Amino acid sequence: MKAKTEKSIFWKYTVFICAALLIGLTVILTVVYLNSDSLIYQQALKQARLLFHSVSLVKKWNSGYGGVFVLKSPDIEANPYLATPDIVTFDGKVYTEKNPALMAREISLLAQKDGFFTYHITGAHFAHPDSRPDAFETASLARFDSGERESYGAEQKDGRTLFRYMAPLYIEHSCMTCHEKWGFREGQIHGGISVSFEIDDIRSIQRLNRMLFLSTGIFGLVILSSGIALFAKKLFRGISEERKAVETMAMTDELTGLYNRRHLLARFSEEMERVKRVGSHLCCIMGDIDHFKSINDELGHPTGDRVLQETALLMRRELRPYDLLGRFGGEEFLVVLPNTDVEEAGKLAERLRKIIREQLAENANLPEGRAVTMSIGITCFHGTDRTVDDVIKRADENLYRAKAKGRDRVEAEMV
Ligand code: GH3
Ligand code: MG
Ligand code: MG
Repeated sequence: MKAKTEKSIFWKYTVFICAALLIGLTVILTVVYLNSDSLIYQQALKQARLLFHSVSLVKKWNSGYGGVFVLKSPDIEANPYLATPDIVTFDGKVYTEKNPALMAREISLLAQKDGFFTYHITGAHFAHPDSRPDAFETASLARFDSGERESYGAEQKDGRTLFRYMAPLYIEHSCMTCHEKWGFREGQIHGGISVSFEIDDIRSIQRLNRMLFLSTGIFGLVILSSGIALFAKKLFRGISEERKAVETMAMTDELTGLYNRRHLLARFSEEMERVKRVGSHLCCIMGDIDHFKSINDELGHPTGDRVLQETALLMRRELRPYDLLGRFGGEEFLVVLPNTDVEEAGKLAERLRKIIREQLAENANLPEGRAVTMSIGITCFHGTDRTVDDVIKRADENLYRAKAKGRDRVEAEMV
């Protein structure tokens, strides 16, 4: 596989994994983010319900007594909406009635002053002008009429965000004393209590959460993506090196490190096709070590191996970088010589033969006086050759002739 293709596969997979990661992380963060957002909202709702409940309790306590009386002082006014708000005791003290509605309104004013929250008792039938419903309350009352039991939402007011909550007020048994005269029935909704408090601090927590989620998400994604890219790069480099090693192994002769027969023939064919196209010279040398069997027999197989290895080294050293050298068989070596004519091939073959005779035995550490020689057959590509087998067959015939003529010589066919 080409390095370019491998690289594009690497990028494709890395981008694919990172994209999958981005989508996955976005989904997770969005779910967590929405959930935490709704949790914060739920918290505000819970708080509003509690406030409503506590106000209702106070009001219920008052109406349970049918209104309570407080000692009247100059700054305490009587409730103008009651027919007889004041009572005078035998000792001349004046007490004025705080009915549930008035008491709730007064506590509401106190709460407003404290600034933590406000609440408002309201209803269409409430007489006091302060009890008139605002837009949210009017809409909430309408919802109660159609069966809903609470109403809430966020609202912008004077640059602040308020959480608004409202639930209905029911006519209870204790209320009937006062409300019966207006035609109310027990269990009927006669208004509601709305609770409001600022949630700007909650909003800022939400904003902070959003920022945190976003930055954590981006940071996590960058870290993860780089980790994956690095890991993928390492993995692909490892695979690529492993593949190259396997490829090299598949084309190499283990003992000598030269091309093996299969790869050499493939390269030879390529060269032949090229020569057919461009019409240049192409020759080959087939060399076979003489009486190699006797080396094995007399000096042992490992020495024979060493002779083969040293032959490979000697030949490689004498050749040009683009000459192809391979181990063709047991002690047979084939050299493919591109851009070389028969004369040059003959010279090179002669040089190889000589150098092997002069140096191989010594290089292979053979005993004194033990010489190693090589017989060589050379041939060149002819226009009539169809495949490399045709060329090799001729080189083999020439080699056979060299053997027959007494070995340690170079032979080419007669022209
Ligand atoms: P000739 O001069 O006619 O070529 O005779 P030769 O003895 O060289 O040829 P022959 O074909 O009779 O013997 C070749 C020997 O090479 C036989 C085989 O055991 C040996 N041989 C083949 N491959 C290897 C190898 O990898 N290592 C060793 N040590 N010997 C090998
Ligand atoms: Mg042989
Ligand atoms: Mg031989």
